[in-house]
Amino acid sequence: MDKTRSLIKSDSYSRRQVLIETMNGLETEEITCANCPGHCCTFVGNSMQMTTVEALDLYFYLVDNDLWNEELEEKLKENIKEFRLDHRPSIGGGHFMRKTYTCPFFLFQSKGCPIPPQFKPYGCLGFNPSKQKELEGKSCSSSQVLLEAREEAVKDEERECKNIRESLHLAWDKETIPSALLDIRKAILALSLQQ
Ligand code: SF4
Ligand code: SF4
Repeated sequence: MDKTRSLIKSDSYSRRQVLIETMNGLETEEITCANCPGHCCTFVGNSMQMTTVEALDLYFYLVDNDLWNEELEEKLKENIKEFRLDHRPSIGGGHFMRKTYTCPFFLFQSKGCPIPPQFKPYGCLGFNPSKQKELEGKSCSSSQVLLEAREEAVKDEERECKNIRESLHLAWDKETIPSALLDIRKAILALSLQQ
């Protein structure tokens, strides 16, 4: 397990800092998700995918807080089955169609994400409302400028993604939240058996 942790060379907050600070800035202007039931976390608007390093951040958060257990594993598997996330048609050029799904962590309430910001997928942090008292997510969007600024700020640290993928023999660069977590778990267990 420790060998796997050492694959992450940078801390999870610093790789998300620019996104978290922007979100906090919006909150001071009272542009928040407080009035919205969370459309962007359900199949209505969610097709979130994580890179290997994002998946490891979230996986270790769950393990370290005793939140990884058989019940969660079953929930992730059910989530994949319900939204057929293991069937993603190819759209050519090594890319696959993105599918929408309800996030397995969503609590079905306003501000319904139980994951602390420093462990959330980058895309979740980069998707924000642009007006006060947003109710239906109509003013919300993903800021590409912001996501690119984050990428630029941490590009050296994120070279580690390639190493993680190779070390854990993962077949993907990005995966949905439930598939990424289950694949990471499987890969870590397989690696620990070899040690
Ligand atoms: S991780 Fe949180 S913010 Fe992201 S889709 Fe899931 S519930 Fe929503
Ligand atoms: S980002 Fe938009 S759709 Fe998502 S919870 Fe906030 S207000 Fe709702």
